[in-house]
Amino acid sequence: GHLPPPGVVAELVREAHGRYGAVTEGRVADYIPALAKADPAWFGICVAGVNGQAFEVGEAEHAFSIQSISKPFVFALVCQALGGGRARAAIGVNATGLPFNSVMAIELNGERTVNPMVNAGAIATTSLAPGADAQERWRFILDGLSRFAGRTLEMDEEVYASEAATNQRNQGIARLLHGYGRMYCDPDEATDIYTRQCAVRVTARDLAVMGATLADGGVNPMTGERVLDADRCRRVLAVMATAGLYEQSGDWLYEVGLPGKSGVAGGIVAIAPGKGGLGVFSPPLDAAGNSVRGQLVTRFLSERLGLNLFASA
Ligand code: GLN
Repeated sequence: GHLPPPGVVAELVREAHGRYGAVTEGRVADYIPALAKADPAWFGICVAGVNGQAFEVGEAEHAFSIQSISKPFVFALVCQALGGGRARAAIGVNATGLPFNSVMAIELNGERTVNPMVNAGAIATTSLAPGADAQERWRFILDGLSRFAGRTLEMDEEVYASEAATNQRNQGIARLLHGYGRMYCDPDEATDIYTRQCAVRVTARDLAVMGATLADGGVNPMTGERVLDADRCRRVLAVMATAGLYEQSGDWLYEVGLPGKSGVAGGIVAIAPGKGGLGVFSPPLDAAGNSVRGQLVTRFLSERLGLNLFASA
């Protein structure tokens, strides 16, 4: 299958923006002080097809920090470097059903494996990034995220500094994993690189292109570059479907029927395999830390563009 014809997609993207623009539910994240400055009215949508076409509306080129949406892409880069088997053994792929910052996620099973979509598994994933030192590991991640986006991405220094000063909980998670032999470089270094990766600046358009790369079996449809092998790409989507929206992943899959990932700055990405990627930016979040309008838009577009993976036609 394909996306509907360009005129139809463009019209539906506009309709989604109009339909949900007035929704005022949700609250902008403030546990990272720099994020509290976000304007709740910011709202951008982009759909990018595997054929390289993109449709955007609203603040689709407004930059914000990627936050947890970095998780599936860093997991992809680590799978590409290590192989999907080793990544699974070292990290884990089962659902946690728990909030993104859960410490209990680490205690769920005796093997201390944690899904890479929640902080514990994500910091473990970051600790597996290849490189001789912290600088090289960070380069590996920033370059890799840039290849997914098809342009050179940069870190937001203010967001990084703000989270680095307040991320004691993530430091604790990394040290707990270290105690269980589930951290693969120095835990404080892994937390620092993870905090940097979360502060990378992207737009809704970037998210759509990054999603379209996963929808295209790992080939960026804008640059033509293969970022990820197809067999690993499938694994990344499976992990996103399992825990991309944390404890609400079941509700998300029930409503949207696509692998997705949210971030606390208000971004959401959804992937329609073989068709394209959706990126939405709207800062107000629900109690689980997922963008309220982002979820409404992806549900609407999944339905109207015929993207639900569980539909037979
Ligand atoms: N950097 C944030 C954190 O670790 C990311 C969380 C998120 O986007 N859900 O708390």
